[in-house]
Amino acid sequence: MDAEQLREHAHKMVDFIADYYKSIENFPVLSQVEPGYLRGMLPDSAPDHPESLEDIFNDIQAKILPGVTHWQSPNYFAYYPSNSSIAGFLGEMLSAGLNIVGFSWITSPAATELEMIVLDWLAKLLNLPDYFLLGGQGGGVIQGTASEAVLVVLLAARERTLTRVGKNALGKLVVYASDQTHSSLQKACQVGGIQPENCRFLKADSSTNYGLSPEVLCEAITHDIAIGLIPFFLCATVGTTSSTAVDPLLSLGKIAKSNGMWFHVDAAYAGSACICPEYRHYIDGVEEADSFNMNAHKWFLTNFDCSALWVKDRNALVQSLSTNPEYLKNKASQARLVVDYKDWQIPLGRRFRSLKLWMVLRLYGIENLQCYIRNHIKLAKLFEGLVAQDPRFEVVTPRIFSLVCFRLLPSQNKDDHGNKLNHDLLDAVNSTGKVFISHTVLSGKYVLRFAVGAPLTEERHIISAWKVLQDEASALL
Ligand SMILES: *Cc1c(COP(=O)(O)O)cnc(C)c1O
Repeated sequence: MDAEQLREHAHKMVDFIADYYKSIENFPVLSQVEPGYLRGMLPDSAPDHPESLEDIFNDIQAKILPGVTHWQSPNYFAYYPSNSSIAGFLGEMLSAGLNIVGFSWITSPAATELEMIVLDWLAKLLNLPDYFLLGGQGGGVIQGTASEAVLVVLLAARERTLTRVGKNALGKLVVYASDQTHSSLQKACQVGGIQPENCRFLKADSSTNYGLSPEVLCEAITHDIAIGLIPFFLCATVGTTSSTAVDPLLSLGKIAKSNGMWFHVDAAYAGSACICPEYRHYIDGVEEADSFNMNAHKWFLTNFDCSALWVKDRNALVQSLSTNPEYLKNKASQARLVVDYKDWQIPLGRRFRSLKLWMVLRLYGIENLQCYIRNHIKLAKLFEGLVAQDPRFEVVTPRIFSLVCFRLLPSQNKDDHGNKLNHDLLDAVNSTGKVFISHTVLSGKYVLRFAVGAPLTEERHIISAWKVLQDEASALL
């Protein structure tokens, strides 16, 4: 590890990445390669002798970039955004440069303490209740992903409930959420040993805009209690993955509380919007929650991965996830003077991820971050308006944040036909390489999703994306 060699090579890499961003619109947004394309292009085994950086750059250009889907392209509208930014990139670079492994406070006090401070900042920015701050019983932690966040809180809830009702009741524990909830909850249940037949993914439909109905939840809980089961975990979503549906947090939270359940709020995507006062009301009722999660790596300019999780009772996490092996013992931990984040997550090792979030908050500032969100929502509104003006299309669910769910209307009133039509339209549009959008199914209807949120997206990209959609629709009809 020679510092001068690092300087020389890293400068070249930065130049390469900067040039990539400059020319990003020249690539097909969705990679057009076939499965297995890379096998034949690379040798069967690693080289015996060192190769030059120049050769490797050539391979990146010729062999790797064709197999890249360009998430940072301004013409990327699929799934949800996964923001990068200069600040996020610099934080990521510094984190890689220091390359610490911060499982306990002592392994890099700054890593633990900066994470605590930055998550308190973000909690205040979201106007979360005070008990999510580290000053009280709660606190924030950076997980890799929302999937890990829901898993760790499910394990904490499981431990808390089993301590109360007896360890052998695991088979009786029941989880509740709407059927619009992200699949990461299902995975958490699988990992957490919750019986598949005890996972209630309750139907949510267009009558509630795909939000979970408190009445439906109450009914399910009452039924489960009557047959001797134990409700223990409720997951609500603010901004579902299919259609940005918002569950009614306040009434759901009260039901969870009166039944002694853990209440988790997943705002992985939409949480970022709640830094704007005019969108904060979407998380009203978060005061009832035991835990709250938002992905700074989606729509908050913080390079992947950085998922912020807050819990009301940090001891619940520690009780379900801590271990205390001899080789990690140290004075600060033994004296309980410090937070050891290893006890708040699944792995032991952890990266210095708070640097990225800190850089984002400092280099941009709250006002700019709010403008950033507002601009994307404005662009999504623009797209929604364009769709609404074309009688061949319909907007399927009301746009709330920066996602528009829409579809091409079938000529006959047959949904099978409509589904095939929209499936074909999606394929046609994505094969052009000019834009990348994705889909979902709502109440049996195949629906196209247009999610605005790439940092480079401007009005002109929205207008040309709509043109591509219109052209491909005309060709299909
Ligand atoms: C994206 C998303 C997730 C999963 O995010 P990961 O961080 O990739 O695990 C979970 N829930 C919602 C609502 C999401 O939008």
